[in-house]
Order: sequence, then structure tokens, then C-alpha cells
Amino acid sequence: MFRAPAIFVSHGAPTFALEPGLLGSRLTELGERLASATAIVVVSPHWQTCGIRVTGAAWPSTMHDFGGFPPPLYSLTYPAPGSASLASEVAALLIDGGFVATVDSERGLDHGAWVPLRYLRPDADTPVIQVSMPHNLDTRGALRLGRVLAGLRDRGIVVMGSGSLTHNLHEVRRDGDVAAYAREFAGWVRKAVMAGDVDALLDYRTNAPSALRAHPTEEHYLPLLVAAGAGMSDMPMAIDGGVTYGVLSMDCFAWGVA
Ligand code: ZN
Repeated sequence: MFRAPAIFVSHGAPTFALEPGLLGSRLTELGERLASATAIVVVSPHWQTCGIRVTGAAWPSTMHDFGGFPPPLYSLTYPAPGSASLASEVAALLIDGGFVATVDSERGLDHGAWVPLRYLRPDADTPVIQVSMPHNLDTRGALRLGRVLAGLRDRGIVVMGSGSLTHNLHEVRRDGDVAAYAREFAGWVRKAVMAGDVDALLDYRTNAPSALRAHPTEEHYLPLLVAAGAGMSDMPMAIDGGVTYGVLSMDCFAWGVA
């Protein structure tokens, strides 16, 4: 049986769907190694709920959960199947792991899920289940969530956290310059991930340079801890995704890629 990797992807701005930049083809290359995956379980900060909800629709819709972007973005779809049976299993696994979890048969995939998945698995031929983030999630809770999901990897199920390695939307710029602090923060995270220094990642707000500036709020950082929790028993690999809009680091990580 194929043992699937755990991955963290940066989804940046919704326009990533139209502008592949450095990362698009690199995600597609990574995705080619996931051809044997039986499903993908994805956690994105764009679905935050009381307790955890798990998508159980047979064909989850593509949600265009953003406003004011170019019209072509609103016609993109990601028609991957879901799986009601896997959703029930994932919810049961989460409950066993101490979380409150229910299946949501209506919810579709938000852009934090489908935008990177369009590069990773462009044929949309692998079932996708999305798992929400509880409103009160913190770094330790995110790591624990990843640890609970880790066992799915032995059944060929990819555990994917989708966030943004840096995410200060107040500083987005279009002049082509990259903010030094964004590179510095991303470099610090990469060093900690490659060294397997989970403690440093958990307490990044006190340990990392410019952490509060890179993440004024935590929700786009937490999926990194989910992926690390699911993957950290394996060797990590870093994928350089560059920086978009001057401040959004698109770096990604994968654990357990052969
Ligand atoms: Zn986002």
C-alpha cells in the first residue's frame, strides 16, 4: 500500500489560480508523485467552525469565497469527488482523538483547498475531503489535529494543510519588491521544519523574527502545524514557491515523499 505524504501548501491570494508563478509547476511535479493516493484530506483556514466539520458531499461544490477579483476566477471549478464513507471515518477518527466532529453533507471546497489542488491534481481524479478548523484552534491544537489524521497516510490518504507561510494582507504590494521580513520569517520556518524543531514552530510567535508582522492573525500559519503533526515522523522536503505580492511567501513542505 502506498504510504501517502503529509504536505503543507501556501495558497497565497486567490489569483494564484490564474497566475502559477514559481509554485504552480512545482506543485504539479509534486502531485505527479501522488498518483497512487486514494484520497486527499485538506485543512484550510477559510472554513472555521464551532468544533470540526468534515465535508461529506458526493461531489463537493467549488466555492468562490472571495470578492473583487477578476471575473475568470469565478468560472474556475474543481470537480473532484468527495466520499461520504471516508468523511464518516474521518469524523469518527477525530472524535476518538478528542475533538468534537460532525459530517457536513452540504459544504463545498473553499479556495484554500481547490486553488492549490488545481495544480497538485489537475485532473481532479482523487477524492477530496475537507476538514474545518475549530475557531479556538491554536498551534498545539493544530499539531494534535495533524497527529490524529496521521494514520490516514498508511491507507494512501494525503494529509494536506493549506495556508500561507507569511500572510499580512495589509502590506500587499505590486511594485515587485519583496519585503525583507517576509523572506526572513519564511527562512526561519524552513530551518525549523528541516531540523524537525516542532517546539520552535509551536512557539513561533516568540521565537521567529517578525512573527506578528508575518501573521497578524494565526489562521494561515496553523495548517503548517497540522501538516507537521501528520508528517513529522518522516523526512521533510522544502519547495521554494517564491513570494507573491511582495509579502506572501508561497513556500511549501512535504513529509514522506519518496
Ligand atoms: Zn487564504
